[in-house]
Amino acid sequence: VDCIFCAIGRGEIPANAVFESDEIVAFRDLDPQAPTHVLVIPKEHFQDVADLSERNPQLAAKLLAATTTVAELEGLADGYRVVTNLGADGGQSVWHVHFHVLGGRSLQWPPG
Ligand code: 5GP
Ligand code: ZN
Repeated sequence: VDCIFCAIGRGEIPANAVFESDEIVAFRDLDPQAPTHVLVIPKEHFQDVADLSERNPQLAAKLLAATTTVAELEGLADGYRVVTNLGADGGQSVWHVHFHVLGGRSLQWPPG
């Protein structure tokens, strides 16, 4: 497959899903950095959040709202982090837009 997250969105590669709608899927990160580490993606391919917000702002808003749903489902009332990495300097490693939802422990700031 050319894009691993497109394949997850189509259900071709198994993922540990915590939330799914017709347009969005949220699933657990393969290499979790916190007790909760969930990735929220649109099923349609956009390379990063800039591409998504330019081409489909309505879907961008839905993706952001889905991070709130994940936090509620995961019981992150004490706080959590929503982050998206963009480009080489941003540390992006999968070129299909995703929000990370991290929580379940006290997180440090700033990132490296
Ligand atoms: P990025 O580095 O692009 O911000 O985040 C990519 C994330 O995707 C990483 O945290 C990495 O662990 C996760 N990841 C990469 N491949 C897979 C996969 O096949 N399945 C799952 N569940 N997570 C993946
Ligand atoms: Zn993709």
